[in-house]
Amino acid sequence: MDVTAVYPGTFDPITHGHADVADRASRMFHRVIISVAANPAKQPFFSLEERVSFAEAVFAGSPNVEVRSFDSLLVDYAREQGAGAILRGLRAVSDFEFEVQLSGMNRRLAPEIETVFISAAQEYGFVSSSLVREIACLGGDITEFVSPAVKEALDARFRASKNHE
Ligand code: ADP
Repeated sequence: MDVTAVYPGTFDPITHGHADVADRASRMFHRVIISVAANPAKQPFFSLEERVSFAEAVFAGSPNVEVRSFDSLLVDYAREQGAGAILRGLRAVSDFEFEVQLSGMNRRLAPEIETVFISAAQEYGFVSSSLVREIACLGGDITEFVSPAVKEALDARFRASKNHE
């Protein structure tokens, strides 16, 4: 079956945890669309363009993984993309409650689209964008958790803000 999966998220910024989930999905689905949500309510640290370009760089060599952005209702966007599945990642039990609620709501809104959960490899189970930003802000090493471009951008942003202090 040629099923397209959309993988929505804020990706602020994309981590190896996100990438591992998308990579696993790319072996199960015909096409995976990493779908970067504009998400202004979350006041993202990186701009939408930056978040998209970080993800594009990570998946430049993966022919069936695309990166797009969206700012509409997820199920409307997923339908526009012809997706049969919404992909979400699970880390700890703490993700579970919200993710199940979200998938229940999305099923109500779009019964024909199935939410599929994938857990990342164990070594990324504790990685989140917010923790990575926090570690970088405090001068910690984030090399193991993000791509070189993301590391460079985070380090540069925090260096610049320190110089302004
Ligand atoms: P959102 O704002 O939609 O939660 P995120 O970018 O934080 O966006 O996360 C997108 C999806 O990726 C979520 O389903 C989240 O649980 C999942 N995810 C994030 N980090 C990891 C990780 N390290 N391992 C597995 N899934 C992850």
